[in-house]
Amino acid sequence: MCGIVAYIGQKEAYPIVLKGLKRLEYRGYDSAGVALINNGLQVYKKKGKVAELEDHVSSKDMRSHIAIGHTRWATHGEPSDRNSHPHVSGNGKLAMIHNGIIENYAQLKQELLSKGHTFKSDTDTEVLIHFIEEIQQNNNCSLEEALRIALKRVVGAYVIVIVDEDHPDTLIAARKGSPLVIGVGKGEHFLASDASPIVEYTKEVVYVNDYEIAIIKADELILKNISNEIQTPYIQKLDIELAAIEKGGYDHFMLKEIFEQPQTIFDSLRGRLDAKKGILTIGGIREHAEMLSKAKRIIIVACGTSWHAGLVAEYMIEELCRIPVEVEYASEFRYRNPVVGPGDVIIAVSQSGETADTLVAIESAKQKGAIILGVCNVVGSSIARLSDAGVYTHAGPEIGVASTKAFTAQLAVLCLVGLKVAMLKGSITEQRFQHLLDELENIPEKVAATLKLNDRIKEIAAKYKDARDFLYLGRGYNFPVALEGALKLKEISYIHAEGYPAAEMKHGPIALVDENLPVVFVATRDSYYEKVVSNIQEIKARKGKVIAVITEGDQVIPGMADDIIVVPEADELVAPIISVIPMQLLAYHIGVLKGFDVDKPRNLAKSVTVE
Ligand code: GLU
Repeated sequence: MCGIVAYIGQKEAYPIVLKGLKRLEYRGYDSAGVALINNGLQVYKKKGKVAELEDHVSSKDMRSHIAIGHTRWATHGEPSDRNSHPHVSGNGKLAMIHNGIIENYAQLKQELLSKGHTFKSDTDTEVLIHFIEEIQQNNNCSLEEALRIALKRVVGAYVIVIVDEDHPDTLIAARKGSPLVIGVGKGEHFLASDASPIVEYTKEVVYVNDYEIAIIKADELILKNISNEIQTPYIQKLDIELAAIEKGGYDHFMLKEIFEQPQTIFDSLRGRLDAKKGILTIGGIREHAEMLSKAKRIIIVACGTSWHAGLVAEYMIEELCRIPVEVEYASEFRYRNPVVGPGDVIIAVSQSGETADTLVAIESAKQKGAIILGVCNVVGSSIARLSDAGVYTHAGPEIGVASTKAFTAQLAVLCLVGLKVAMLKGSITEQRFQHLLDELENIPEKVAATLKLNDRIKEIAAKYKDARDFLYLGRGYNFPVALEGALKLKEISYIHAEGYPAAEMKHGPIALVDENLPVVFVATRDSYYEKVVSNIQEIKARKGKVIAVITEGDQVIPGMADDIIVVPEADELVAPIISVIPMQLLAYHIGVLKGFDVDKPRNLAKSVTVE
């Protein structure tokens, strides 16, 4: 969601900021803009793609050693040139970019209107920069001081970066709730919403904490908290390579990321699982493992695809650990005054580790005494830092907006956590434990074999791409896979799709079935198999078109289904890691065949940093 990039140093700032904005395009946005200082403050902004902004400024003098850039994902005011960022103060000297929402902007705006301020946009952001200006003028203080006073009154989430025409050697930034990374170079600094615009210049980064203000010059970085106390910047080493955020010969990031899965699943298990020796080590939960095994209850909070991973984990953990598990949408959990407290363990699952709803949900659960375990992909992310214990999924940067490799890595990691707790609790036999370790170890190879079905799945995609609706059905461990299949299709191809537990279909969705409705069954061989076969019959009896994902050696379903996708056999507990691959490929190919931008589907954002 929305991207922020800024540069200060000896080099030309605009090309660096522009390239950074392109690197952040994957996060989803609707307009773009830059501000720099060159004979005074210059601000250029445009609705649409970064390339349109680039065209717009092509004849302008963009020389400057300081610049800020923004891709906007509109929350307050429609996407338009005038609502795009940067926004400028009334005197035209300050320009600000902002990611997030100023919740009390209406009240602040009223106050400012009554003092004679006029506004050019409908955004909450413009209100904030006028508010800062107003404080600065009233108190005759520095911008930094004015910002500190302003932020004490601001309710909401933000990363902001400000340039001041009168101080072209300084960038001022602040954060609460949204991510901000500062890259530390030699005599230069880079600011961005995530590390991808920074990685090609420096591997040394500082993650700014909530309620911190950064005062950044080319060769100096000062961090202060909101009480004006100096904080020591904690410099960390980035562990991503440039290649990880480039397409590497694939047509789309999504396809690249689908095909990376044998490696990313392997990476999520690496150093943790040694099936030969029967050992499972999860460093991130070492100190809390005992406590986890004594949990009264586990609550998994997540959104979107991560929520589906949570549903699979519910089945896994209840079966392996005999601990009651609830899976909650973070956005519901946080607002409904849930009963939660000491003895509860919250597992927060989030690819970006910045998902606003999940972040706030765990903040309040933590205050009530629950222990938080984070399962995140982005190292150093807010959820990872807020958690008491955590396990990184190690899937590498996921650029495609529709999550693929992060999902399978989440499943692998959640399975490891379930197995570890089960072992400590003694709720699993040694034999079953060893069997599941072996199964997990073999998963990357089986995923690689499943990816060989790509051409077959493309043919199926071509056959059904014009359908108006799709139904996805599965039972047990494959029920969340059906939900994920439907979500992928919606996201990428804009075809209406619903996922249901296969049996539940009789209680409503079956009314949709006719000869035009493709029904995708996730029907691998497991303890629900016979029941699923009956459900397929029920669809066929009503002339629905059945596309079935089945296990090698299945003799029954091929005689019933219109199209089959045959995947390698696996224990039902880990089978979703395999059966979801055809879901991802089917959605991908339908989206591409329909001519859509699968890496940046309309209206969607990658890391959802607003509620
Ligand atoms: N709330 C701001 C706006 O609508 C910022 C949105 C964003 O994060 O891009 O302009």
